[in-house]
Amino acid sequence: MLNGQLDAHHIIRFCSLGSGSKGNATLIAFGETILMIDCGFSIKETIRRLALKGIKPEQITGIIVTHEHSDHISGVAGFSKRFAIPVWLNRGTSLHKKSESIPHRQVFNSHHPFKINDFEVQPIPVPHDSREANQFVFATKGKRIGVLTDVGQITEHMVHAYSGCSALLLEFNYDTQLLMNGAYPYSLKTRVSGDLGHLSNEQSVKFLKNIESSQLEVLAAMHKSEENNCDTIIESHLQAFTKDKTIEHLIATQKEGFEWRQV
Ligand SMILES: [Zn+2]
Ligand SMILES: [Zn+2]
Repeated sequence: MLNGQLDAHHIIRFCSLGSGSKGNATLIAFGETILMIDCGFSIKETIRRLALKGIKPEQITGIIVTHEHSDHISGVAGFSKRFAIPVWLNRGTSLHKKSESIPHRQVFNSHHPFKINDFEVQPIPVPHDSREANQFVFATKGKRIGVLTDVGQITEHMVHAYSGCSALLLEFNYDTQLLMNGAYPYSLKTRVSGDLGHLSNEQSVKFLKNIESSQLEVLAAMHKSEENNCDTIIESHLQAFTKDKTIEHLIATQKEGFEWRQV
């Protein structure tokens, strides 16, 4: 359960239940409001992973969906149904057949921010090979938390939208050399590295250098490919970027995500 002592101080907490192509779910909490971004795990597995973070399913205020790829949406309908939790998704995602069985839907416009309790949720349309992929910046009490994964290329709009964040959960999907020299078939290499695929370490570093990051306190590398990336390489990129700055950096894992952090 959230620590009452921390709740009193306008603190935003966040953690990952798991990150990568086998399943994603992220929690962002402020006071009693706990939002889950995506749910790519079975009901049982989601409950298990929530328990590891000290959270009961009934505490989840709502689920917000980024896009309809299975690693993000496969658990949404079941979890929402079981615990009567509302689900926010945009129109494009809501029209996909994988979304048909999702109850308690709230359809939002990808170009308009909306409120969930004290959070202002800003959707950011991103280039990715799904119907209408978007990612999010969550803002409350003057702080902004950015979540950005499953993105093929950096846009000007993204650079603007993610500037001024206190915490950033940013995709570091693949190392270009490991991907190109690896075992993936050519078509998959092209898909992953294409403009509608995923962010390479190099693209993410370039993005970090382009955004306004003077307020950044926590930087989490997300959605790491288990085949085409390695912690040592990501770590060296993160260290190079955060050196001379007071930014905590970490790498989310598929197995455990990462523990609660706060800003
Ligand atoms: Zn994904
Ligand atoms: Zn995806």
